[in-house]
Amino acid sequence: MSVERDVVVVGSGPNGLAAAVILARAGLGVRVLERNATIGGGARTQDLGLYPGIVHDICSAVHPMGIASPFFAEFDLAARGVCLLEPEVQYAQPITPHTAGLAYRDVRRTAAELGPDEGAWLDLFGYLSEHPDAVISAALGDKRSISRTMLREFPGVARFGLFALEQGLGTWNHRFKQAIAPALLTGVAAHAITPLPSMAGAGTALMLATIAHSHGWPIPQGGTQSITDALVADLKAHGGEIWTEHDVTDRSDLPAAQAYLFDTTPRAALRILGRSIPDDLAGSLNRFKYGNAAAKVDFVVSEPIPWTQSDVGLAGTVHIGGTRQDLATAEAEVSRGRHSRKPVVLLSDPGIVDSTRVVDGRRPVWTYAHVPAGSTQDPTEAIIRRIEEFAPGFRDTIVASRSVSAAEMEQHNPNYVGGDIAAGAATLWQMFARPTPRLNPYSLGVPGAYLCSASTPPGPGVHGLSGMFSAKRVLSEVFGEKEQPSLAP
Ligand SMILES: Cc1cc2nc3c(=O)[nH]c(=O)nc-3n(C[C@H](O)[C@H](O)[C@H](O)COP(=O)(O)OP(=O)(O)OC[C@H]3O[C@@H](n4cnc5c(N)ncnc54)[C@H](O)[C@@H]3O)c2cc1C
Repeated sequence: MSVERDVVVVGSGPNGLAAAVILARAGLGVRVLERNATIGGGARTQDLGLYPGIVHDICSAVHPMGIASPFFAEFDLAARGVCLLEPEVQYAQPITPHTAGLAYRDVRRTAAELGPDEGAWLDLFGYLSEHPDAVISAALGDKRSISRTMLREFPGVARFGLFALEQGLGTWNHRFKQAIAPALLTGVAAHAITPLPSMAGAGTALMLATIAHSHGWPIPQGGTQSITDALVADLKAHGGEIWTEHDVTDRSDLPAAQAYLFDTTPRAALRILGRSIPDDLAGSLNRFKYGNAAAKVDFVVSEPIPWTQSDVGLAGTVHIGGTRQDLATAEAEVSRGRHSRKPVVLLSDPGIVDSTRVVDGRRPVWTYAHVPAGSTQDPTEAIIRRIEEFAPGFRDTIVASRSVSAAEMEQHNPNYVGGDIAAGAATLWQMFARPTPRLNPYSLGVPGAYLCSASTPPGPGVHGLSGMFSAKRVLSEVFGEKEQPSLAP
């Protein structure tokens, strides 16, 4: 069979592009097929027509893993002209109108503001923030192998594991004396969209909070698209090509190639490859669970958000949800398939660090709320009410808004099944056995066919690592190449 390209990648999200970059740098002919007219999947910035000149991050906005992931550390976004802007406060957790937890890059400054829980925070993050590679190698590994970094950083990996157990179980309150520190940590855990406490939530919280104290949670100047543009530029410089508006629904949509990487969910790969996937693997992939959802609202507002606790306005990310118990109650409702009256809301106002995002004093505000999978409800009013609890008057600053319900989320990106922005439920089982418990989680059981999306380890986020791990498998298993090419600019 003559091949059109050596490798075809289905989907141009950050994982698809990371895989494509690595394979193109290895000298292979790579074509990326993307169903949408725009490139980047969950890493796109668009003009939604809400206000002239104002653009919105339609999915991801804040990039702790864009700086800390081993893929991006080597790819080096900053050296490629992506300006990663760091807010003074990495993330904030308003608890009452006048009280908030604030996480700074400096772990000691953060702890010092937590009163009687200063020691508890330092115990959790003092050592880990000085050894972030321990956490990054464990949480952002392929979950199938023990890397040299994990062995070298064993004391940190062990701490991370023990703290995850403590914060993932009913023991999660035992070290804290007041409400602020546990709420601050739980706001980060809520990124997992899972009942709390849970191991998945605890692992997420410890990983992201460690990165906040070691690398920061930056916001790219001009929006997330700049990350995608850097990946696309590198891919093209190494001979790769991207075909947009090319929806792959069936095997016949794929050009002849030696290897295929699917930046899709297991569900889509099963549909495309059909019966060629062995029955036992197809059965496991069919059992892959999708999780609860996010419903998004992008606003244009006329002024900075009028937070009653004004320091919240220094944060790149705000977790709106009150106390640890408030957050747990809201997530429990969602896990029972109900809309919470007080949902967890994530918010980012990029204009606090990026003046290029502010036009005529108007600024974009990125928000989403946690809702049950498949929800068709417009989240706008629920989100506004939630913000108003901590920033009265916010409603009056709204110039325009656009909402995307959980159900609609899947229409603009089929990887977000029912609005599950993590491309798979954050259960303990799926933390490790994602998408199946097989030793090679990327192989689709068909020679040359691999899954490379966030449905594979290490899971969701703009880190490019699912792409990197699967591309390494393709290089060695299909092309007999043991060495990964350099990613340096
Ligand atoms: C609202 C929202 C907020 C988020 N916030 C953050 C954040 O702040 N920070 C962060 O790190 N992460 C965030 N995430 C998560 C992050 O965006 C994803 O985990 C990440 O984009 C996953 O990358 P991926 O390459 O696996 O898939 P995706 O980015 O989802 O890309 C998959 C691509 O494949 C295409 N595709 C799928 N099926 C086909 C097909 N059959 N044929 C052709 N093309 C196909 C899709 O159109 C899409 O372009 C957020 C996600 C959402 C939705």
